[in-house]
Amino acid sequence: MNIASVIVDVPAKQTDREFDYSIPDKWINVVKPGMRVIVPFGPRMVQGFVTGLKNETELKKLREIKEILDLEPVLNEELLRLGNWLTDETMCFRITALQAMLPAALKAKYEKVLRIHEGRKELVDERVRAAFRDRKFISWKDVLQEDNAALFQKQVQKGNLEVIYYVKDKLNKKTVRFVEPLLTSEELAQYAGTLAASAKKQYEVLQFFIENPGKIQLRTLLEAVKASNGTIKALAKKNILAERDEEIYRDPYENRVFDKTSPFKLTEEQSAALRPIQKSIKENSHDVFLLYGVTGSGKTEIYLQAIDAVIKKGEEAIMLVPEISLTPQTVKRFKERFGEQVAVMHSGLSIGEKYDEWRKIHRKEVKVVVGARSAIFAPFENLGVIIIDEEHESSYKQEETPRYHARDVAIQRANQHNCPVILGSATPALESFARAKKEIYQLLTLSKRMNNSQLPQVEIVDMREELRAGNRSMFSENLFAKLKDRLQKGEQTVLLLNKRGHSSFVMCRSCGLVINCPNCDISLTYHRFNDSLKCHYCGHEEDIPKTCPECGSDHIRFFGTGTQKVEEELVKILPEARVIRMDVDTTSRKGSHERLLNRFQEGHADILLGTQMIAKGLDFPNITLVGVLSADTMLHLPDFRSSEKTFQLLTQVSGRAGRHKLAGEVVIQTYTPEHYSIELSGMQDFDAFYEREMHIRRQSLYPPYYYVALINISHEDLMKTAATTEKIAKYVSAGLSPEAMVLGPVASPISRIKNRYRYQCLIKYKREPQLKQLLRTLLEHYQQETAQNHLQISIDLNPQIMM
Ligand code: ADP
Ligand code: ZN
Ligand code: ZN
Repeated sequence: MNIASVIVDVPAKQTDREFDYSIPDKWINVVKPGMRVIVPFGPRMVQGFVTGLKNETELKKLREIKEILDLEPVLNEELLRLGNWLTDETMCFRITALQAMLPAALKAKYEKVLRIHEGRKELVDERVRAAFRDRKFISWKDVLQEDNAALFQKQVQKGNLEVIYYVKDKLNKKTVRFVEPLLTSEELAQYAGTLAASAKKQYEVLQFFIENPGKIQLRTLLEAVKASNGTIKALAKKNILAERDEEIYRDPYENRVFDKTSPFKLTEEQSAALRPIQKSIKENSHDVFLLYGVTGSGKTEIYLQAIDAVIKKGEEAIMLVPEISLTPQTVKRFKERFGEQVAVMHSGLSIGEKYDEWRKIHRKEVKVVVGARSAIFAPFENLGVIIIDEEHESSYKQEETPRYHARDVAIQRANQHNCPVILGSATPALESFARAKKEIYQLLTLSKRMNNSQLPQVEIVDMREELRAGNRSMFSENLFAKLKDRLQKGEQTVLLLNKRGHSSFVMCRSCGLVINCPNCDISLTYHRFNDSLKCHYCGHEEDIPKTCPECGSDHIRFFGTGTQKVEEELVKILPEARVIRMDVDTTSRKGSHERLLNRFQEGHADILLGTQMIAKGLDFPNITLVGVLSADTMLHLPDFRSSEKTFQLLTQVSGRAGRHKLAGEVVIQTYTPEHYSIELSGMQDFDAFYEREMHIRRQSLYPPYYYVALINISHEDLMKTAATTEKIAKYVSAGLSPEAMVLGPVASPISRIKNRYRYQCLIKYKREPQLKQLLRTLLEHYQQETAQNHLQISIDLNPQIMM
């Protein structure tokens, strides 16, 4: 077949389809669906994905593929199909969907070079070997110039040739400098004999290579022979040595040894939950299980044993966990059980590291991937199970195009592979639990904690009463007493500051002015460490005004409670306590998240103070107290899920206490103790919460009873934004059935970001088969204006964040 269908990297409505290109004769059988290519498009060259091959086209004149970027397809057939599905489901461009499935490194510019794999020279095809006669490396570009590219490709597949990637893109520079001799040991010795006596260092370097042939990291070499960079440069200039930056095969967990663990003997409850999963794995049946188990009930052990069954069957597993709980602790449990067969993908890895992990999957060197959201696109070809832990987490939804939810993708992929999906949580999303109750998902329940340890005792403290009793501190009497008690006993405490929703802002006490960002309608956040005000949306930063810009008063004060402020308060009231603070500021550096947790685990601190990021995944035996400083900050967000999110967070964080031998206690401080989500999280009663919340959702016509879709419109001009949203709302209403509701236009909760005004309308509906088509027409209608970026319209068919 000599014609390729290509999706080009020009994300626009008119180009959102396949274009045909002819394949030059020398590349017939080389070009395959799922490969990236460079093709002429109009006057320029663009990247594209080959989506199919064919012999015929309606077009008279075809242009030729210019370059092939991959040696093997980077997307397999199933993922190409998944791309179409994503396009349709999330209303994105096909190119956007295809790119979303690849690691970032494949979007950067790499130069590929080939070389003969060490020790395999004899196995290499003669013609290919001939090409290497006078050189060590051949760039892939050069290979493409030759007529026998397919030959090289075969050798790569057989493992006789290896592919090395040079990063062209400076941004992704994650390389190490290597030095290697260009001569054989004998030649080196010969050459050393000719050196002048003064070139002592050069001589030593040569001796080193005679004794240790092969390439070595420059730094190691310099240390070993105590030579300077200049010495190496001199030898390189004479073509004795070659220097080169190489992408090394990085293993982020390289230096750690994992002791192999064996499966636990399951409890009766666990066995009962695992049995139907195993049956489904054995019978290749596409079932969706909801594993509903309280914190510490042994869900992870069930995941591990399910994956084990899958590996024994010769198949592969995807294990998703929320980004935030991809802690070394979690990863360790999988590495300990499955060792080298595990790849790990999370945002803490560099682009290159992520790419390496992806490559392990692509080359079938691993059987399991443990990763955050995007790991759902792992290029496995024999999936046996997909597991999503903490399935209620909103981070499984991507908040930029393609706006997919990993849960939906999981179910779609598992359907293609005829394998089960396991969704696990102590606080399932309402939508999921409702589906389980309707038997769309199979409900599996773990009601008991391991070792029969009790769920912690939870106490809810009314902060209004504390204030009435004269306590103006951010710690209630009770929490303070318990903190002191743990300090004396040498036990550990986790303190959660629920920051989402508000943070420390600056206000004038005389006139009430809050200092806002000049570009966004949102208050600036105070950062103590450099004493400045910062906007979390656009990055704007300014100094704190000495006097109020409105009334001139100098009574400028900080409100709200940041983690820094809590830390300072702790130092004051409990000077002997050792505190570790975890928030965006202290964890922005790579690896710092892990370092802080390790220090806490090793007992170098008494109190772990942090934001949401400490609520999950911690499983430390010495934590016996959890304090929540402000339970209700999230409750008042303009979001129909705010109660659900509050309940989930409080339950999660409470679950950190007393997971092992020592019993745990939880203190929740709140200004609205009567709110059901706080009250019921205190009782850890998900079932009651579910009933209560479902009732409210039914009354207010929200999911799971109704679907919602959110249209967001933004423009620099306020009138234009409002008017366009008005038009859109009318258009949508007219196109839908009378059952559907269109709310808006209204200003978005954050009504301006980066100087663009934001309006929205919300669609609530039960069944509107024509909705997507309607929205597509809408996007087409505004195509011109959105292409020029004057107007932005984003459509979210399953919004998780309503801001
Ligand atoms: P969850 O994932 O539900 O929060 P975990 O899987 O972390 O719970 O289990 C809690 C603790 O119990 C862990 O330390 C785990 O190693 C242990 N555990 C799990 N299953 C068993 C079992 N069958 N026998 C003994 N210990 C177990
Ligand atoms: Zn003022
Ligand atoms: Zn801003």
